[in-house]
Amino acid sequence: METTRLETPQASVASWNQTEILAEADKCVACGLCLPYCPTYRLTLSEADSPRGRIAMISGVMKQHIPMNERFTLHIDRCLTCRACEYVCPSKVSYGKLVDQARVKILNASVKKADVPYKIRSWLERQWIDKPWRFDTLRPFVKLFQQLGLQRLLLRLPFLNGTSFRLLLSKLPPIRYPFQHWQSFYPAVGKQRGEVGLFLGCIARLIDVETHLSTIAVLNQLGYSVHVPQQQTCCGALYQHRGESAHSGNLLAQNQQTFKDLNLTALITTASGCGAHLVENNGFSIPVMDINQFLAEQDFSQIKFNPLAKRVAVHHPCTLRHVLRGSQFPSKILAYIPEIELKELANQDQCCGAAGTYFLDQPGIAEALLTHKIQDVLAINADYLATSNIGCAFHIASQLNEQQAGIEVLHPVTLLARQMSIQ
Ligand code: SF4
Ligand code: SF4
Repeated sequence: METTRLETPQASVASWNQTEILAEADKCVACGLCLPYCPTYRLTLSEADSPRGRIAMISGVMKQHIPMNERFTLHIDRCLTCRACEYVCPSKVSYGKLVDQARVKILNASVKKADVPYKIRSWLERQWIDKPWRFDTLRPFVKLFQQLGLQRLLLRLPFLNGTSFRLLLSKLPPIRYPFQHWQSFYPAVGKQRGEVGLFLGCIARLIDVETHLSTIAVLNQLGYSVHVPQQQTCCGALYQHRGESAHSGNLLAQNQQTFKDLNLTALITTASGCGAHLVENNGFSIPVMDINQFLAEQDFSQIKFNPLAKRVAVHHPCTLRHVLRGSQFPSKILAYIPEIELKELANQDQCCGAAGTYFLDQPGIAEALLTHKIQDVLAINADYLATSNIGCAFHIASQLNEQQAGIEVLHPVTLLARQMSIQ
């Protein structure tokens, strides 16, 4: 269990100074062991798109040996922050932190902040991502929009071709549970074993209600009461990976404030992207745990599961594998279901290309990586794909649906809840 305990809520997403950045970059001995694992290097075969190349460029820019120009920014922007490199690095370079710090420097030096599209996007994000409870109100309207066929209609409009808006629209899954609103407290069934908090995230609150409901249902059955406070906000990962570390820290502080006075055994995350960010920047006074890990440590002996004679492909999101180091847990909990056939995807170290907003910002690379991932999924001939991160789920599902593959993409906890007959 990864924990950090600080009693006072505070923003803990810190910026590094030049000396700290250079010290981290200097840990790289340029061995190149990470190169075969880097998705962007595998696609472009360019040293500048490899971890080693990026670290050398960051060091060069910090020492002012090379300029912080558009070329440098391009190669840093192309990094998925998947951290496959960090996972295999023998020198233990904290690559993820390093590239985030490079992005802070780029953003601070950039004129991008004055661009109108940047300002509009930034404003929209602050209105919705920072206030995710608004998605609960939006959900019925999005459902209506889909039922009236407006999503399909907009996707046919030629003037939207090539825009981020069209890309986002093409990935939007059918909305389920349009009228779901969250109670602040869901009591345990039977004798209470403990109380936990549920972190809802931002986008997941709009499109992944079933995962949250399943999590509450399974936890309640196991004897845990679940707190879902309204004022929780986005985890801040999206901002952190774009160089807005100060704003990311503000969101973290708001979340700490929201959960701090509850008597919680753990704060549960269902999206490994959020979980990884909260664990790494943990200023909570309680352990933050991914739901797969939390459930893997529970006693299921009193729970009866209905058999499921289906094949389930298990996907490891980068954040679950490379940051939380918990890729063993989804299969462990799914194995409770009798007759289930679990198959691990090939190439689990390779990112699917979703990576936060990467699929919008670098659509060419994102789609190329998705194509590879879809090949690995189809090779299994599965009925379900179980994945533990909302970004990966809707990125992969959009392509599987387009190909009419007949594979349902869901969170492991959803399958567990369905087979417990409690939904
Ligand atoms: S594996 Fe580590 S030390 Fe080796 S090149 Fe990659 S980042 Fe540098
Ligand atoms: S984080 Fe991923 S994309 Fe970025 S350098 Fe490392 S392996 Fe390559």
